[in-house]
Amino acid sequence: MLREFILCSIIFCMETQIKKVDKNNISDYIKVFQEAGDLIKSGELVAFPTETVYGLGADALNPLASKKIYSAKGRPSDNPLIVHISDKNDLDTIAYKDSEKVDKIIEAFWPGPLTIILNKKELVPMETTGGLSTVAIRMPSNIVARKLIEFSGGFIAAPSANTSGRPSPTLAKFVFEDMEGKIPLIIDGGSCEIGLESTILDLTTEVPSVLRPGGITREQIEEVIGKVSLDLPKSENEDFHPKAPGMKYKHYAPKAELYIIDGEDKKVLDYMLKSLDKGEKVGKKIGIITTIENKDYLKSGVVKIVGTKEDESLVAASLFRVLREFDDEGVDFILSPSFANVGIGVAIMNRLKKAAGNKIIQV
Ligand code: AMP
Ligand code: MG
Repeated sequence: MLREFILCSIIFCMETQIKKVDKNNISDYIKVFQEAGDLIKSGELVAFPTETVYGLGADALNPLASKKIYSAKGRPSDNPLIVHISDKNDLDTIAYKDSEKVDKIIEAFWPGPLTIILNKKELVPMETTGGLSTVAIRMPSNIVARKLIEFSGGFIAAPSANTSGRPSPTLAKFVFEDMEGKIPLIIDGGSCEIGLESTILDLTTEVPSVLRPGGITREQIEEVIGKVSLDLPKSENEDFHPKAPGMKYKHYAPKAELYIIDGEDKKVLDYMLKSLDKGEKVGKKIGIITTIENKDYLKSGVVKIVGTKEDESLVAASLFRVLREFDDEGVDFILSPSFANVGIGVAIMNRLKKAAGNKIIQV
């Protein structure tokens, strides 16, 4: 106890409080929002839920506050933050609407899991944009997030509330795992419905491009503004210089080695069963990600069911949670099937490949 106290004093760690709010009865929690908003206005960090993942929030217009985010996460300083707003009209305060496509996109997808990149105005400090002259902006649909933004002055810079490189948190307890002692407050608003980070759409170029796939698909965007390109590496060996700086970093990684098993369903299942047998013989604990269809076949190992093959939104919602659970259960290896690369599946495969460091086994 004394040792912990001394260590804490030396590294300036603080007590991290978790305050629960019920998103269906938001008016009962005004005090929590006032306290959280005051913390943000005074330059502190507060973690909060959004419909995608939990965010680590700071006043986006305060350079010193933004800097704190980088040190709490251990995030490289060239990896810019997303500015969250709660009112569409606030966009004009921080960015230029250079294209008529901006209004169409906002009308169609905000509030929601879509971040847009625009040229920034002077007011936004370079600390928030990682030195770029553009700024990423999103208006989340989660009511807890929006209330907090309102009480904080209107502009919250927030990346995902995990330590850099780890899976993004979809529950307050996962934020606590990574941020305990580093931030004063976590608002617990339950689980995040979508479970993967927002789609990022660059609207500063002639042909807009998706820099990160997410909850809103490229097809949905094309229905509103026409042709959109996808700025992702085609193969693991490609020399890729992403326009979203964050996409070049190792990400979403659980502690155990993750392998994606790609092939027909039956062959993937056979491979998993054989691996479980082998694992048992050599005393290794194997984690398996699978869908409900295979539940009766996989009887050993640490098996996590992530929805069904038919509904990949359920897979998206539980992927980061199960990756963190495998960490807690101390598995040595994790095997996951690949998922159909369409719709939300594009985002799932993007995160899985990064978590696996691109280790794909064809069967
Ligand atoms: P996270 O907050 O962890 O979801 O990360 C935010 C993502 O948005 C990272 O991949 C950033 O590189 C990307 N991003 C933020 N601002 C910009 C910008 N101005 N231009 C391109 N990408 C950006
Ligand atoms: Mg992140």
